[in-house]
Amino acid sequence: MNAVPLGGLGCAEVLANLSEFLDGALPAPFAARVREHVAGCRDCERFGGAFAVVLAGLRERLRAGSDGREHDVDPSVAARLDAAWRRS
Ligand SMILES: [Zn+2]
Repeated sequence: MNAVPLGGLGCAEVLANLSEFLDGALPAPFAARVREHVAGCRDCERFGGAFAVVLAGLRERLRAGSDGREHDVDPSVAARLDAAWRRS
């Protein structure tokens, strides 16, 4: 865990809202904070369990910008990431 939460969110809060984030159900300002957190946090991956690959893919996407590189993310996951990326 980080002493100063990235994006003003703790890992638990990010993980609790990750499904909604991917579904585009979060308000844009909150989604932006989730993105900011995931972009800089490696702990979420450790705590994320089944979401670890999603988080890894999301962070790669955030790092790479929007050039669409997919790395080793499952295509269905990548599609959801892509949709979340475009919405937020
Ligand atoms: Zn985190």
